Amino acid sequence: MDILETASQPSGDFRLKQVEHLYAHTVWAPVINIIIAAVLSVLLWSVTPHPHILGWVLALLVLNAARIGLGWLYQRDRHSPEESSHWIRFYVVAAVLSGAAWGSAALLMPADRIEYQALVILMVGGMVIGSLSTLAMSKAAFSIYLFAAVVPISVRMFAIGGFIPTLIGGLTLVFMLTMYAIGRQIFGIFTSAFVSRINAEKMARRDPLTNIANRRLLDEYLEQIWYYAVRGTFPLSLVLIDIDNFKQYNDHYGHTQGDECLKRVADVLRCSLPRRTDLMARYGGEEFVALLPFTDADGGALVAERLRSAVSQLEIGHAPAVATPQVTVSLGGATCAAKPDGTPTELVNLADQAMYEAKAAGKNRCVWKTVGDKRTGTGRTDGE
Ligand code: GH3
Ligand code: MG
Ligand code: MG
Repeated sequence: MDILETASQPSGDFRLKQVEHLYAHTVWAPVINIIIAAVLSVLLWSVTPHPHILGWVLALLVLNAARIGLGWLYQRDRHSPEESSHWIRFYVVAAVLSGAAWGSAALLMPADRIEYQALVILMVGGMVIGSLSTLAMSKAAFSIYLFAAVVPISVRMFAIGGFIPTLIGGLTLVFMLTMYAIGRQIFGIFTSAFVSRINAEKMARRDPLTNIANRRLLDEYLEQIWYYAVRGTFPLSLVLIDIDNFKQYNDHYGHTQGDECLKRVADVLRCSLPRRTDLMARYGGEEFVALLPFTDADGGALVAERLRSAVSQLEIGHAPAVATPQVTVSLGGATCAAKPDGTPTELVNLADQAMYEAKAAGKNRCVWKTVGDKRTGTGRTDGE
């Protein structure tokens, strides 16, 4: 996975989206749970043994306080997509316990008061419906929550016996199956909405012709890396790469062939950057940029020469070119130690100057410049 894939994170990963959605209501959902449990306890106070009610409310209180704590832990830090599975697992455990706590309300139902049984069933049913919009994001969490909340109520109604309680017990099971089907549909809707959004986000950072990163991703990554470079004080290098005499190439071979040439050059440039932290982007037209974090001027000049030679070795014929019979590139590279008062534009401008010098010196070569240091160098290339 390269920067092009990882750059869309944290919003670009499905699991991360899933976990973000699950943890989006980690304060309100537990608070509503506690309020409804308190209301139910008050309503049942006169018909249910008090130790049962108090034990149940206490269990719900502790459990929901733990859910708030879990939510707080999640919101406190940013998480990588790799951690998402753990957070989803924690959430499923919390959902199971929460479902079981609501299911255990079955024990609070007085056997001889149908109106109180109906009250508990309505409350638990309401909780299940209310949890749909969040919990349905995880099939496991919602299924187990549903089962743990509804089955004990059903079993208790069957155990009470008689025509009406048995009928209600059966209906609660029908309710559970209906909710399960609705939950799966909602999961499907969430999934397709998230996948479309992820794809749109990825496409927005990809150049459609060459399929490498585009200017937008470059700008985002450059800004982020600049910030890290300031804090981490590591050198940052940037190389502008421009195809030589490309107008002539287009005029001679046509735009379709020109596009093919751009694709081949982009492919070889990208493949010549094996480090996961490096980024190759199409800057615009026939210009590309290689962003090389943790790379000093010597390292950058080596990479630039590797890029130049890789394009040359493609041996794409360029009949009208005066100096060389094949497609070549000129490169302008710059290195800096990022400073808090500086901006990445300084680095880009310096690379641009270096590129201008490389063109002026005869093309098919690399010129390197270093910010804050008079040292500049011309890395040449094959014999001319
Ligand atoms: P130099 O060596 O000085 O860079 O000369 P050049 O001809 O490469 O540069 P110039 O800026 O004069 O022309 C760039 C040409 O690149 C113009 C245009 O025909 C071509 N070009 C830009 N974008 C595309 C594209 O997406 N597809 C194709 N086929 N050609 C493009
Ligand atoms: Mg150009
Ligand atoms: Mg050019």
